[in-house]
Amino acid sequence: MSDVVVIGGGIVGVSAALFLAEAGASVTLLEAEAVAAAASGRNAGSIQHPMDAVRSELYEESVAIHRRFGVIGDEAAGLLVVGPDADAAVAGAAAFPGLRAEPLDAAALRAVEPEMAEGLDGVLVHGTGYPAHPAAATHRLAEEARALGATIVEGVRAVPEVVGGRAVGARADDGTLHAADRVLVAAGPWSSALADPTGEWSPVSALWGVTMQVALPPGHGVRHRIEEWDEPFDAGVQFEATPLDDVTVLGASRTIETPDETTYAAAILSRAARFLPILASARTVKAATCARPVTPDGLPLLGPVPGVEDLHVAAGHGPYGISLGPASGRIAADVLLDRSAVPTAFATDRPSLGRGAHA
Ligand SMILES: Cc1cc2nc3c(=O)[nH]c(=O)nc-3n(C[C@H](O)[C@H](O)[C@H](O)COP(=O)(O)OP(=O)(O)OC[C@H]3O[C@@H](n4cnc5c(N)ncnc54)[C@H](O)[C@@H]3O)c2cc1C
Repeated sequence: MSDVVVIGGGIVGVSAALFLAEAGASVTLLEAEAVAAAASGRNAGSIQHPMDAVRSELYEESVAIHRRFGVIGDEAAGLLVVGPDADAAVAGAAAFPGLRAEPLDAAALRAVEPEMAEGLDGVLVHGTGYPAHPAAATHRLAEEARALGATIVEGVRAVPEVVGGRAVGARADDGTLHAADRVLVAAGPWSSALADPTGEWSPVSALWGVTMQVALPPGHGVRHRIEEWDEPFDAGVQFEATPLDDVTVLGASRTIETPDETTYAAAILSRAARFLPILASARTVKAATCARPVTPDGLPLLGPVPGVEDLHVAAGHGPYGISLGPASGRIAADVLLDRSAVPTAFATDRPSLGRGAHA
């Protein structure tokens, strides 16, 4: 019998397990495949500021957590924004003291990012954009959770076991009941179906994306996290690049349907080559497909599932899960242990999500 059983071994689930274990709770995490098997191991690899007031505290705390566990260092690579809406980065960064937006003309842009195509201007946002290998943060936090005493079991698919309107544990596919006082669903885009199998309450859905990892020729590299800002965004691909030690991650597509990876990988490479001509000489390492867990209002979903006692959820971080998920895991842990309440913007009963489960 555990104090808490967590369903889902992505960045949010492992962070919650870590902070539960650190607080002295007994915690078992059940992961259907492997830690970081989904978006938490296949993302674009950038820890960065969401540039909105509601989520900025989650970001600041998550950066501190990533630093504490050695996922990132002190220096940000910087976020270079290009495209028709690049100027929005100046206004977006203005509200946050840690960010400094510097408009760049074409010559200045090539001076800071020599591989970029000629004739592009943009905005360099200093103070954010920490590259981290897609799975690195989640594996590191899982390792720490284990060291603190959390039990992480991979290859176990489970659903909350609800008896008389109260969660009493998680039932694994093989029939085993993992009994617990409380259950946390942290299953990314699959969270709605686990929190409310009736489908009446469905606050989290999937927005699929493909990324590509390429190796640039020796002596060439990208220095910043780079993003093309062009809203409203159509269903195709938006150029983005993240420099990692050995590869550059290119992205990304956004589709409601599961994408054909080969088709989108080719589209990503073609779009990215407009911005980075050196890609003509790059070697493809691999493509990856995963789903962003999104909510209708774009904000995370944390805390008790309406209508079921002792069942909690932590999901819905959209394109910012690696950047915000560790702090959400800390909040989820504190709420499960009755140490604090959920910030109202992220509460499960907020009006922008529609009616509560089993209402
Ligand atoms: C293309 C793309 C690029 C991205 N780039 C970035 C980026 O650069 N920076 C950033 O901050 N964020 C990025 N994100 C978003 C980020 O990856 C996600 O928000 C984050 O990984 C979600 O974490 P999670 O723990 O909520 O869910 P997930 O990572 O989806 O993990 C959920 C886990 O639950 C498991 N699971 C599901 N059902 C069950 C069950 N019944 N029993 C047991 N286990 C179950 C799954 O196997 C999975 O491992 C990107 C996302 C995409 C799609």
